[in-house]
Amino acid sequence: MSIELKGGYAGTVLRIDLASKKIWTESLDPAFARAYVGGRGFTSRLGYDLVPRTSDPLGPDNVVVLAVGPLTGTSAPSSGRFTVGARSPLTGVFGDANAGGFCGAVLKRAGYDIVIIEGRSPQPVYLWIDDDQVEIRDARHMWGKDVNETTEMVREETARGTRVAAIGQGGENLVRFAALMVDIDHAAGRSGMGAVMGSKRLKAIAVRGTRRVALYDRGRFKELVDEFDQILRTDSRSGGELLEFGTTALVDHHTAAGCMNVRNYNGGVYERKEKIDGAALNAQYLVRADGCYRCTCKCDRYSRVEEGEFAGTEVGGPEYGTLAAFGSGCDNDNLASILKANELCNRYGLDTIETGNVIAFVMELYEHGILAEPLADGLDLSWGNYHAILDLVDRIAFRRGLGDVLADGVVPAAEKIGSGAERYAVHVKGMTPPGPDARALKVYNFRYAVSPRGCDHLRISAPGAYSLDHLPILEAATELRKWENIVTIPDLMGTCKFPYSYYAETIERTMYKMLELLPEMYNAATGLAITADDLLEAAERVVNVERAYNTRLGLTSEHDTLPPRWTEDPLPSGPKSGAVYDILEPMKEAWYKIHGWDTATGRPRREKLVKLQLDDIAEDLEQHGIPLT
Ligand code: SF4
Repeated sequence: MSIELKGGYAGTVLRIDLASKKIWTESLDPAFARAYVGGRGFTSRLGYDLVPRTSDPLGPDNVVVLAVGPLTGTSAPSSGRFTVGARSPLTGVFGDANAGGFCGAVLKRAGYDIVIIEGRSPQPVYLWIDDDQVEIRDARHMWGKDVNETTEMVREETARGTRVAAIGQGGENLVRFAALMVDIDHAAGRSGMGAVMGSKRLKAIAVRGTRRVALYDRGRFKELVDEFDQILRTDSRSGGELLEFGTTALVDHHTAAGCMNVRNYNGGVYERKEKIDGAALNAQYLVRADGCYRCTCKCDRYSRVEEGEFAGTEVGGPEYGTLAAFGSGCDNDNLASILKANELCNRYGLDTIETGNVIAFVMELYEHGILAEPLADGLDLSWGNYHAILDLVDRIAFRRGLGDVLADGVVPAAEKIGSGAERYAVHVKGMTPPGPDARALKVYNFRYAVSPRGCDHLRISAPGAYSLDHLPILEAATELRKWENIVTIPDLMGTCKFPYSYYAETIERTMYKMLELLPEMYNAATGLAITADDLLEAAERVVNVERAYNTRLGLTSEHDTLPPRWTEDPLPSGPKSGAVYDILEPMKEAWYKIHGWDTATGRPRREKLVKLQLDDIAEDLEQHGIPLT
């Protein structure tokens, strides 16, 4: 059956080879679009197809894929998002990150669904996408500049209003958790996509797009968007809490749940949380709430420090993850210093979560006498010493001394430091956690063990999964898996998880938005006639492609694990005080079973792959000597 795309999609894939400087376009295959929907679906499948199994994440054969979704750049709420994928230099396995801002919307309006970037340029360059005109331009004069400076320089050289995704010194210096920064303060933060850009000597991607996104039934689409908007504006969470506090409200929620990150994931409740929470930020430093493209929820913060030691600090932030990593995680209650750390990370292009976490890690080593001179670099790494924290952010970005050790991530750092340091490295697959402690909310935080990109919360991020700990394991895992599929859908559509699948007063409202309004919006945009079940199946297909990606790299059940800090040490404080993560093995068994994965190895079973029309992946795995049951 031939499939015709009548709107939503731009219909074009832009391809760039940085080594040969060749630029060309291809048509988007409608069957591919129907099967993978867009965004993360496209990046994950193309990552599987294009990145060789033997590739070095920082070598020329790694491939960067950026993709928007069918709703990106339309009038749908919060539809400015895109996914960037590549093999992760932090974990060595599957990597991707999702970003807001305006770049995604403008890329679609320039006429592209996907940008594939291969090879390595011999010298620094940036990409200038101006509707149909695409150029690789010299960026030697920008190398060494931070994200803000780079963005300004690119705008000067291109056009007013150009949207820019850029790396800072972190990416240039191949810090393995460097971020790609979008429109200055929006981070494609996790898994080191900025370092992959740096390895390709690609300093920035500048985009101007002036076209209107085609829609199959513009009138119906508008009706649906109006209804969606109305729900968002009148809901106390998407139209209230998100606007007032952004994600900083999670400090309160996670304190109530007893899962705050305290002193390198050694707490549960932070004793001085009122000094770093959303109320403190709003009272002292918040300038305004900001929003990405077509967003009324405006969860982004813009903050400024007017006086004191950090006067002049100005940053788009902080997010909850930044407060948890640089604040309670480092036992640092100086909020102005957290904003300064956030500003530095954004300018250097560093993931704030990973940066704060590796610093908390060495602070704990320092406390236990494991990190001593000369490796300590003359720093007093006592808990809460924010001068040392800020100093280390600099050293990491420029790979100086101890910063050079930490710039490779917590696992290589622990190996280099030795003396039992690995016991304090709280990570999964080489990535540190985003904030919540797994010992509280055990079922929900099982997500860390099985996320393809490491200790990550965004594959399953839904309030509907907060209260599953009382259920029998198989039932709990089945409920959690339901959220995995639902939460994947906004990533495919090119929309934001928060207004779509996370923030709503009731679960029923979330379900209505996700499984009734959203499929209809997709159909009105594209002219395809899909059902909610089709979308859920597409989500499951993408989850399995990502699983197969890591399976091909040799990952098995033993890599789906949690650190001993959580499986062996009791949670020290809070309502879940004394809890140990003791459901890992039964959860894994149930998880594999309901996914149709082999319960011994964790590999997708052949039957499951075939059912999801992934026969070619099943054959590919077997050709690589990976037996499927
Ligand atoms: S909710 Fe926040 S992250 Fe999502 S689109 Fe709006 S401002 Fe951006």
